[in-house]
Amino acid sequence: MSALTELSLQIQNCQKCALHKSRTKAVPGEGAENATILFVGEAPGWHEDQQGKPFVGPAGHFLEELLGSIDLKRQQVFIANVLKCRPPGNRDPLPGEIQACWPWLEHQIQILQPKMIVSLGRYSMARFFPEGSIGKLHGTARRQDGVIYFAMYHPAAALHQQKLRDTIKEDMLKIPKMLLEAEKPVEIEKQPEQLSLF
Ligand code: URA
Repeated sequence: MSALTELSLQIQNCQKCALHKSRTKAVPGEGAENATILFVGEAPGWHEDQQGKPFVGPAGHFLEELLGSIDLKRQQVFIANVLKCRPPGNRDPLPGEIQACWPWLEHQIQILQPKMIVSLGRYSMARFFPEGSIGKLHGTARRQDGVIYFAMYHPAAALHQQKLRDTIKEDMLKIPKMLLEAEKPVEIEKQPEQLSLF
């Protein structure tokens, strides 16, 4: 059994916060175990909670469309969330829930060693970009310790707002060039670097 699968099993049995009481299934995340790119959403919604898989509802269909626009299939990337269990009624994650759940994602990242991490939405962005609003940071990247971090709006937010929908599509199209950049061997940077690719 791979280290990521073993970790997924542990996540499925997690009881570190109260969300385990209301969940149907935990949603550890899934995708290629050799993926160079990791997409990190916020938390499972109703569909994800039912199936135990990330991004399988309407936001997931849009994410697949976005991936298709850069010739990627969801099986070629890794998709996970900041929270592994659905907050009741899809409410926003609570700070204590994020704190309790964060080590799971950290461990996944440690095993996967992605070259690029794409945050989807503000809760995910807040974990990878120390400051700034999503309105300012979406479509921008920073590089630290050889990993490129790229902020995007959440596909669910962009689903019904044409303007955001166009923006998220445009931001997605920036990824291939950055992935090429990410896959180049680089010296480990001491300081976070703002990428000036765009
Ligand atoms: N929204 C998320 O942030 N994650 C999912 O898995 C589904 C919807």
